[in-house]
Amino acid sequence: AIDVQNLHKYFGDNEVLKGIDFHVDNSDVVCVIGPSGSGKSTLLRCVNRLEEPTSGKIFVEGIEITDPDVDVDKVRTRIGMVFQSFNLFPHLSVMRNLTIAQQRVKKRGKDEAVEVARKNLQKVGLSEKEDAFPAHLSGGQQQRVAIARALSMDPDMMLFDEPTSALDPELVGDVLGVMKDLATEGMTMMVVTHEMGFAREVGDKLVFMDGGVILEEGDPTEVLANPRHERTQSFLSKVL
Ligand code: ATP
Ligand code: MG
Repeated sequence: AIDVQNLHKYFGDNEVLKGIDFHVDNSDVVCVIGPSGSGKSTLLRCVNRLEEPTSGKIFVEGIEITDPDVDVDKVRTRIGMVFQSFNLFPHLSVMRNLTIAQQRVKKRGKDEAVEVARKNLQKVGLSEKEDAFPAHLSGGQQQRVAIARALSMDPDMMLFDEPTSALDPELVGDVLGVMKDLATEGMTMMVVTHEMGFAREVGDKLVFMDGGVILEEGDPTEVLANPRHERTQSFLSKVL
């Protein structure tokens, strides 16, 4: 579970998160939507400590990850993150992309790392690509490799920041399909996305952010059908 309490984040004088409170239950999928610059990425990056919150607390599985004494690397191995721009290591094969952090961070032996990698490549439907290099894969395949790489660290939860926004439309479905499978298996997920179909079908909760605050949240079908806030209505009328 994730608990965020009164989270504030400044970049210089710019207050980007203005007191965020929310909760993600285990096995829940929370989708986050909102206009550009509303703080969605910053929120996700605070949850795995890629950004330092200015104030407030974040608990992951009851452990305060904003505690200055917490081992940030350990936090990150438990929270998988997938970005819009796949972020694979271009000079490494798919297999090596999946094994390197397992060996260096999780201290797994090579055989075990390869076995875990194969299991996760199969899960994302890319078993036949283990020797390929990222440049020889489609965007959708690269993103599925990125998901398999994150899963190979055995995370407790996964954060996705617009995972399909950089993809050609015909490749979006494969990636969303993998994410849906993960949700069905009970993975706890936070997903910044503009794929409202995914939010409606897979999401347990939909959060609308605007100007650094959560303006509205609730059951996705409910929020999409009856947005209470005028700003939510106006945003949805542009993306739906
Ligand atoms: P988008 O939909 O465009 O991805 P977003 O909701 O993810 O937008 P953020 O990337 O979280 O928005 O950015 C929120 C605000 O914080 C923006 O005004 C942005 O310019 C600012 N910001 C983000 N990262 C930094 C940084 N490293 N340094 C300074 N300002 C930043
Ligand atoms: Mg963003």
